[in-house]
Amino acid sequence: MPLKKTTVITGGAGFLGSHLCDRFIQDGYKVFCLDNFITGNRRNIKHLLKDRNFELIEHNVTKEIVIPGHVDCILHFASPASPVDYLNHPIPTLKVGALGTHNTLGLAKAKNARFLLASTSEVYGDPLVHPQKETYWGNVNPIGPRGVYDEAKRFAEAITMAYHRFHKVNTRIIRIFNTYGPRMRLEDGRVVPNFINQALKGRPLTVYGKGDQTRSFCFYSDLVEGIVRLLNSDYHYPVNIGNPDEFTILEFAKLVLKVTGSSSKVVYEKLPIDDPKQRRPDITLAKKYLKWKPQVKLKEGLLPTIQWFTQKEHP
Ligand code: UDP
Repeated sequence: MPLKKTTVITGGAGFLGSHLCDRFIQDGYKVFCLDNFITGNRRNIKHLLKDRNFELIEHNVTKEIVIPGHVDCILHFASPASPVDYLNHPIPTLKVGALGTHNTLGLAKAKNARFLLASTSEVYGDPLVHPQKETYWGNVNPIGPRGVYDEAKRFAEAITMAYHRFHKVNTRIIRIFNTYGPRMRLEDGRVVPNFINQALKGRPLTVYGKGDQTRSFCFYSDLVEGIVRLLNSDYHYPVNIGNPDEFTILEFAKLVLKVTGSSSKVVYEKLPIDDPKQRRPDITLAKKYLKWKPQVKLKEGLLPTIQWFTQKEHP
């Protein structure tokens, strides 16, 4: 009997990691889910614990990783990923991007496995080029509060390319733009959970700055499809995956009010340091090499997301 295909997903109990666990289990893989639960949540993978193809390993990937048997693919998604989380955990964020990526690449080399790095639109910093193409090198403040995440991910990209070029590891890099959907944490501080939570509770929506900064929001299912396509492709350079529909944060606040039917007001608060003024992916590469483009409009994706946040037993 041929060996069952095996995937290691770091950060597998997080928002995106857990959706990837679901996808790979559905696709017939054996899945090792690694998480140290700094920002991941057991609830996200509870339904998988009884599946004999699913194995949870509670582990901090900045320490050596031991996986029995063969491994076909490694998806490195472990990291605090919201501005509030990486400001609360600056050193673990730097360590998981640097040491964690080194360890997962070492595992990929030892197991001769395909490796996919979850990178981020934050590598573009506060971008001076718009929309952002993969060829843009970015505008990052290395010593600002966001530097812990941005530079960790930039290092992660650099070491991934070095393992690809020097050790011939079969690597992929996805640059993930703002993504939303069920399993986001209510308290992760990002604009989507904040606004939905505020609207549902009749509290004012906290718009930072004037709300004229822009973001482009991708529904998680589109992102997961993009990840799988990139993993199955032969493209080794970074690929943007995100939804190019761009909104100002004030427009987004108004949309959340409309979709939730809330009568909350908007209040303006201080803009965080180095908050990017504009963000929109150029997805020409993903369209060309992966035949991928997002399918879910923001309005449609907000409905199941709001439903998730209205569930009683919320983490
Ligand atoms: N933001 C906001 N109010 C909030 C949370 C966030 O206006 O309660 C803004 C934030 O300043 C940024 C945008 O929304 O311009 C997206 O922030 P988020 O934390 O979701 O992620 P980012 O895209 O900055 O990584």
